[in-house]
Parts: sequence; C-alpha cells; structure tokens
Amino acid sequence: MAMPLFDNALRQLDEALKHVKLEADTIELLRYPKAVHSFAIPVRMDNGSLKMFKGYRVQYNDTRGPAKGGIRYHPDVNLDEVQSLAFWMAIKCAVVGVPFGGGKGGVKVNPKELSKLELERLSRGFINAVADVIGPDRDIPAPDVYTNSTVMGWMSDQYNIITRRHLPAVITGKPLELGGSLGRDDATGRGGFYVLQALRESLGVKEGATIAIQGFGNAGFHFARLASEAGYKIVAVSDSRGGIYKPEGLDPKSVYKVKHETNKLEAVYCEGSVCELVEHKKVTNSELLELDVDVLVPAALENQITSENANNIKAKVVLELANGPTSFDADETLFSKGTIVVPDILANAGGVTVSYFEWVQNKAGYYWPVDKVHQELEDIMRVAALAIDEKRSALACNMRTAAYAIAIDRIGRAVEAHGTHSFFMDEVSAK
Ligand code: NAD
Repeated sequence: MAMPLFDNALRQLDEALKHVKLEADTIELLRYPKAVHSFAIPVRMDNGSLKMFKGYRVQYNDTRGPAKGGIRYHPDVNLDEVQSLAFWMAIKCAVVGVPFGGGKGGVKVNPKELSKLELERLSRGFINAVADVIGPDRDIPAPDVYTNSTVMGWMSDQYNIITRRHLPAVITGKPLELGGSLGRDDATGRGGFYVLQALRESLGVKEGATIAIQGFGNAGFHFARLASEAGYKIVAVSDSRGGIYKPEGLDPKSVYKVKHETNKLEAVYCEGSVCELVEHKKVTNSELLELDVDVLVPAALENQITSENANNIKAKVVLELANGPTSFDADETLFSKGTIVVPDILANAGGVTVSYFEWVQNKAGYYWPVDKVHQELEDIMRVAALAIDEKRSALACNMRTAAYAIAIDRIGRAVEAHGTHSFFMDEVSAK
C-alpha cells in the first residue's frame, strides 16, 4: 500500500541523515515502527444499533522512554497518517529532550455526528482495545485533533477500571480534577509562541508583524491570543468551513467567543463586550495560505503546503503548529525562495512538553503552580529553538533538517548505547 505521508517522513529522515553519523543498523531501525495495532471498536449507538469504528495505535520507537502521542478522531484517519504522526512524535520528543519515544492513535470517525454518550462509549472502547499495550511506563496517549480533556478523562477512567489501579500517568491532557496539569490546555500554542519569541531576531520578525492562522482550534487559538497580546497583528484565521481576513487585525478572544457561541467563524466580530458586524473579507483556506503576511501559521491538518501552492506562499516565515502541514517538495521550494519554515517538531512541541510535566506530576503525586509550568516550558522551548537555529547556520540547511539532525543524533545514540554491529563484531573479530 502506498503511504505518501510516511514517504514524506522518511524523505525528511534521509535528508537529515546526510548530516548525522549513525551506524547502518541504527538507521535501519529508525525506518520501521516498533509496533502497529489495528482494531475495530464496537459502539452501541443511541438508536440501539451496533456500529464498528476503525482504530489504530502505533508505537514507533521507545528507545528514549515510553511511547507518547495523541489520539485523533477524524473521518480521514488512516494507518499512513497515524504511523507518520507516531514517527514525528519520536523525533519531537527528542528535539525538546523529554524522555519519551513516539506513538500515535486514531479513530476513523466524524465525532460531530456522535452524541456525547456515543462519544464516551467510543472512547472507552478505544481503551478496551489497547489496554494491554499502553501504560504509564509503556505508551502514554494524549489529545489530538477533535479529542479533548473530557475524552482523556473517560479514557484514563476506563484504564483504571480495567487495571483496578489509580494510574493517572497513563494519559495526559486530562481534566485538572482528574490529575491534569495546569497549563496543559494552552501548551501547544504557548510553546509555539515561545519559539517565535526566542527566534524573533533571527527570523527577522518585527513588532506588529502580521500573522495568518489556518485552523482556529486549541493550537491556533491560544497561539493567536498570546501573539496578539504581545503586539503581533492577527489578520486572518480560519476553520474547516473557511476563514475571515481583516488587514487592520482581529481580536482572537472575541472571534473565539463568537465562534463558540454561533459555531461560525464569519458570523460576527466582537469589539470589547459589544458584538457588532465589522467589515471583514471571507477567505477560503487555500486563499488564507497565500495571503501577504509576515508569518503564516498552519494549525489545522497535514499536507496544506505542497508543490501546488508553495510558490504562491508570500509569508517570510511559516510556523508549523499543525503536524506535517508542509510536504517535502514544498519544503525545498520554500527554502530556495528564502522562506524560513519553523518545523512542527519544534514549533508544536509545547504540547508534549507539558504532557511530560503532567506525567511527572502524576508519578510524583505533587502538583505544580501554573507559573512553574510556564517557566519550565519557556526554558525548554527556548533552549531547543536556539540549538536548532545554531545547527541550521552550522549545516547551512533548513530548520527542519537541523531539528531532525539533533533529534536523530539523540535517538541514535540511545539505540547505539545497547550495542551496534561494530560494537559486537569488533569483539568477535578480536577473538
Ligand atoms: P482542534 O481540534 O482543537 O482544532 C483543529 C482546528 O482545525 C479546528 O478549528 C478545525 O475547524 C480546523 N480544521 C479542520 N479541518 C480544517 C481544514 N481542512 N482547513 C482549515 N481548518 C481546518 O485541534 P488542535 O489540537 O488545535 O490540533 C491542530 C493541529 O495541531 C493538528 O495538526 C495537531 O496534530 C497539532 N497539534 C496539536 C497539539 C495539541 O496539544 N492540541 C499538539 C501538537 C500538535
């Protein structure tokens, strides 16, 4: 079966391997997922019928620690996507230096078509299917597209029921009342914002720079909120139905409030406490990507910037909050025309970093104040961003390859610490 997204991931790996010295058997190991679980989840629907939903969990690599990665509910979920996302999680955890490997899960479902009760049964069913292969020291799921803290609460509860233990560290992104961490809700957007601030000078992003954001969910909204508070101008945002564009700048909090009240982005734009209709242009998702802005933030789904539209991207900086929004070919086009892509494996690593903090707090049974979460997150994101920027200069490559080079070196050295071909064969040949 052709796996285009995973091919893209392997091409990124191959590009980075040009800059990292690893042994052949380590490289071979990095090209395969450790385990792929594929299953069907039976759900009793509200009308009494039984419906089966296709589910996946991939554990890509766990050399540096337990597998870690979100669970996605989306009609387009497939094995290629889940495996690629699991691979990127392994890379991402190594980029920010948290002691986890990479995993990912997904269910092929349109959650908007399910009632809350059906959604709960589906979420508990997912855990029934994977309970034997996940755990606080094996594989730790978290939220992703169209899953949230409520879903994580059901899932951790189901795991506790099956194991007859209280093991909150099995899942991160839980509600606070069930062992979640303060600061997890906005961690991905916040992490991306800290990266932007750390690299601001190097990226040539000035105060008041204009930003367009594709995807106005958890990652996109919180990034927009923090960037707007810091003086950047958010000129366009979109969701699955399309977007709005206002060159003078939008107020993300008002747009978010109205979106959630009306379920439509373009319905109303609120100024202060008074909601009023303000002039704005409607844009499609593809038009948004090509707007003349300083920073473009894809924060929705993968494969949005491809060889089809890469030449039309006008932003000088692309900050990838979504996973895999830029194809390998598009990356090359953007690099050759001087567009800097701050890659997903750095820009959206704030989520997994605070997930790591949640896991640490669950294991210790000791909970941190939010200021500590923010400070520790900022420190980790800044250190990772500056190291990657330095590597990019040293290797004269794009930022993605630099990030991969750092991550693969870390994973590779962990793999090689167990012994490699030359380690074992040197001894054999010495006898
Ligand atoms: P979310 O479900 O909260 O929001 C997704 C947003 O994308 C919604 O506004 C939705 O309307 C929009 N969307 C869906 N299809 C779209 C389309 N075709 N065009 C434009 N917009 C579309 O999800 P999220 O958690 O914000 O995740 C967004 C991206 O960030 C995903 O790629 C996810 O893997 C990545 N990410 C999220 C986290 C996290 O902690 N939430 C961490 C790392 C990476």
